[in-house]
Order: sequence, then C-alpha cells, then structure tokens
Amino acid sequence: MGAAPACYAEHTVDKDGATQSPVWVVDFDGTLALHDVGDELCDSFADPAWRDVGAAWRRGELTLPEAQRRMWASVRVDRETMVRRAREVGALRPGAESLFAAARRGEVRLVLASGGFDLYVEAILGDRLELFEAVYVNHLEPGPAGPALSFPHTEVAAGPYAVCKAAVVRRHGAEAFFGDGSSDRSVAGQVPRLHVVRGSLLERVCNEQGHPCIPFESFDEVLPAGADTR
Ligand SMILES: [Mg+2]
Repeated sequence: MGAAPACYAEHTVDKDGATQSPVWVVDFDGTLALHDVGDELCDSFADPAWRDVGAAWRRGELTLPEAQRRMWASVRVDRETMVRRAREVGALRPGAESLFAAARRGEVRLVLASGGFDLYVEAILGDRLELFEAVYVNHLEPGPAGPALSFPHTEVAAGPYAVCKAAVVRRHGAEAFFGDGSSDRSVAGQVPRLHVVRGSLLERVCNEQGHPCIPFESFDEVLPAGADTR
C-alpha cells in the first residue's frame, strides 16, 4: 500500500540531543487482544439486542459512550463472573509478549488507547499494564442494577469517542498506531505509521479512503527479526 516499511529502530531526538524511543499507541479489543472482549462479554451476558445498538453506533447514530451504556444496561453478572469470562476469551495477539519484552528493554514506549473497559483490560493484562507509560481506558463497575460506566479521560475525548485515538496519538507524539476497528478510524492519516489488523474493518476503511496502512497479524512482524523476547 505504499506505506513506509516497518522500521522498529526509529528513534526521535529531543531538544537536549538525547535519544528517545518511539511511542507506539496500541488499541486493545481486537488488536492487542485477539478478540473484541467487550463484545464477547455482551454476547455472554447482555440481552441479544445489544448487537442492534452496536450497529447503530457504527452507522454514526450514537456516540460510543451512549451506545455502550445501552449495550451493557441489561448485564447483571458480578465482577468475578465477568473477570472469569474475560480471561477465557482474552487471548492476546501472537507476538504480544515480544512487544512487551521490547518495552521492558526500553526500545519502544507503549501507550494503551482503548474505548473498552478497565475491568477486563486489567483482568487480562495484569502486571503487564505497568509496561505502558500511559493507559487510556474507560471504567466499568458491576452492580445489581447493571454496570455503572464512566468515561474519565476527558483530556482525549473528541467527537463520538470518550477515548479519541487520534487525540492520544497527538498527545504522545506517537510514531505508530496499531488498531482494527470503528473507534480507530480517527487515526487514519494522522500518524506516521498505521498498522492495521489484516482483514479488519480499519484496513478496509483505509483502503477505501486511500490512507496508507500496514496490515499485520502478529506483533513479531513489526519487531526486528531475531529479537530477544526475554
Ligand atoms: Mg479494536
């Protein structure tokens, strides 16, 4: 697609001449996690009509927080049940551990930008969340009358998004973004390198609109060959 080749070792030089590792912003559902965990949880625990709400969001009829409040409203399970299911469906994308190892070595600075919820992101990533220098994710508190959702990251809210991926990219001067879905569309044309999950909605949108993008399936494809994954 004419995009620049994936170049892992690009470093920026700050005003004092010190070299800084590049910032990579990564989406969670369907990108770092192989599946959309939020959708899987709604499939497991919400009234099936949640899918109609999701479709209305994709048609631009609702903001994402409005859609999420409606999608989750009928869920009545407790935290433990949600966490257990999240771990069942929350496999990470191949190469994720190599990505974390690169962050541990300071070769890349990771930022997580998710339109999803902390309950399942924390359950799946655990201590590995500490490898991210910033984490943007919404809050979900289970309750007997349905979960309470809150959207605390007003510093990156824009348009229909509580976490606008393009705003996160700008805020961190990101060199690359990794995404797959509807809520990642704002990044097209806004970041030096856009990595899209192969076969995803985001890849299709980029192709239709003529935005350069780099399809990928495993993070190992964008890390240097033979990288030490300790
Ligand atoms: Mg996604």
